Amino acid sequence: MWEKVLSLYYNTGRVGECPNCGKESVSITEIVLNSRISYDIKCSSCGACAHIDGTTTEKIKIICIMQVDKYQIIKFKEKPSYDFKKVKIGEQIFNPIPAMDTTNCIVIESKEDHSGIKVIEFIG
Ligand SMILES: [Zn+2]
Repeated sequence: MWEKVLSLYYNTGRVGECPNCGKESVSITEIVLNSRISYDIKCSSCGACAHIDGTTTEKIKIICIMQVDKYQIIKFKEKPSYDFKKVKIGEQIFNPIPAMDTTNCIVIESKEDHSGIKVIEFIG
């Protein structure tokens, strides 16, 4: 029953309603252990909770970020060793936009200033 909460979190970084009681009192804790990421989900209203494990993450150094209109092209040092679905920059999770011929680059839709951020986290 937590798939919806987790997929919302995964796609937007926000947490929605508790699937058990419907209140917006769900918190998610990310636990990163040996490049594996898992989630502790808990509703403070009704006490419903779950532990969901799952994905692999890897942090790779950013070489440069280029802003083109509403898109950012991010060049990074090396390819992650697995197929990734999302990337995390700072506290935000993005869906990379498919683009051709982008060796060690990804494209995301963002106008935020990420210039202070040194690494990009790939979520498998
Ligand atoms: Zn609840």
